[in-house]
Amino acid sequence: MTNNANGSATPFSEPPREADGRARSARLAVVGAGPAGLYAVESLLESASGVSVDVFDRLPTPYGLVRYGIAPDNQKMKSVTRVLRNAFDRESKVRFIGNVCFGVDISRTDLVKHYDAVIYATGAQAERRLGIPGEDLPGSYGAKQFVDWYNGHPDAADRNFHLNVRQVAVVGAGNVALDVARMLIRSPDEIASTDVPDRVLDTFRNSQITDVHLIARRGPVQAKFTPVELRGIGDLVNADVVIRPEEVLVTDDDEIRISSNRELRTNVAMLREWARRPLQGKARRIHIRFLRRPVRILGDNRVEGVLLESNEQLANEQVRGTGSLEALKVDMIFRSVGYQALRLPDVPFDEARSIIPHHQGRVLDENGRSTDREYVTGWAKRGPSGTVGTNRSDSAETVCSLLADLAARGAYNGSKPEQILTLLSNRRVDYTNWANWLQLDDHETELGRRQGRPRVKIPDLRSMLELSHHSNASGSADKTD
Ligand code: NAP
Repeated sequence: MTNNANGSATPFSEPPREADGRARSARLAVVGAGPAGLYAVESLLESASGVSVDVFDRLPTPYGLVRYGIAPDNQKMKSVTRVLRNAFDRESKVRFIGNVCFGVDISRTDLVKHYDAVIYATGAQAERRLGIPGEDLPGSYGAKQFVDWYNGHPDAADRNFHLNVRQVAVVGAGNVALDVARMLIRSPDEIASTDVPDRVLDTFRNSQITDVHLIARRGPVQAKFTPVELRGIGDLVNADVVIRPEEVLVTDDDEIRISSNRELRTNVAMLREWARRPLQGKARRIHIRFLRRPVRILGDNRVEGVLLESNEQLANEQVRGTGSLEALKVDMIFRSVGYQALRLPDVPFDEARSIIPHHQGRVLDENGRSTDREYVTGWAKRGPSGTVGTNRSDSAETVCSLLADLAARGAYNGSKPEQILTLLSNRRVDYTNWANWLQLDDHETELGRRQGRPRVKIPDLRSMLELSHHSNASGSADKTD
């Protein structure tokens, strides 16, 4: 018997025996080595003894958004990797198979054929758009482009940002917008103590930015910021926070919401305090503007400003445009209005909600029936919401469904662990294993140690692979060719 996510017991049938009498473990695949995928692995190992797991990722590195999403100046939060890596310490049970792109190197059919069950934990790779004129002008960027770049994501290896401008707008009132604004305004010396790639640090060192304008379309009570993240901009060494007192006024209904919600109370108290306190004459400023909706990005050949319409609040937390317009002069704009999952080849997808349709983590086909042996967790399941820790309970629910189905089905796929590796080798896929990652990890931390930094990230895929294979790294996912 095993315990499910609610603590109640689910029957887990004894697996069949191998020819030599050893118990045959259920073989599971997890696609995506980010927090959702790795929490699913943790939950699988805690709930069932007879399982082994292969974790695939399109990159040769584990940790997904922890490595490439959390801002570099939040190393404390990145330290969750210490928990997430535990799964791989149980070497015989969990293999990391990196640099394998689902839908290119390996298909849904392959995984369903070789595993007893598959969990998709592929996150949200795209960004929502504003849908306003001027959005594609040079100088207008999706926040993810910037986040990928400063975090040294290989997708952004050829990208560069010229921060030789003074005024920048960030649209959105979520934690990603806060991250982007904070990174833009932070002093280069502070960024020098993070793990950003060297060329990113050079760009921040040459930044001319003096003012960042954070644009929120609703009021302070409706902002999606969490208090810890919001506090981060109030503590910056070289930037004042500028807030207009009239923009932190809230409705009577909002007052009721504030009184019953500690996070809202903390946020609003902080914003009110910043609106009151005198500016300290710091070199840079971060302006938070509430109730402002961008209606057009201005400029002929590149961004020269953004046209904002004032909104007024309605009782139901929604807003209505007042028709009053203001042109804000900025030279660069980052749109940070939410991420979006993308359809995985051959896997069901709900276009309207941009998620893989599911019931308690079981993937559903277009008729709403559970597909056989496929599951989903994380942002691909619930949309881009919550913190890293939210994935733990989310994955526990998915794993609970999976183990219950496995126990009920009782039939085990006959594929051997080496078969999937042979398939990848035959396709000339340069897959990597856990030992390869540790090799790269060592290299990055050693580079960091020499500069007094936690690590220095290697941002291009070719170098990452070369360093991963630098010595004869061997691990549980050994090459078969
Ligand atoms: P988010 O929390 O959903 O915020 C998106 C923001 O964009 C909202 O303020 C939204 O306003 C605004 N928006 C949407 N469409 C807009 C439009 N057309 N015009 C103007 N504004 C628009 O998304 P996120 O910031 O990308 O964060 C994603 C998830 O990652 C969140 O769960 C977040 O907490 C998490 N995250 C956590 C951390 C951390 O814990 N340190 C760091 C980064 C991200 P409305 O509310 O009015 O729609």
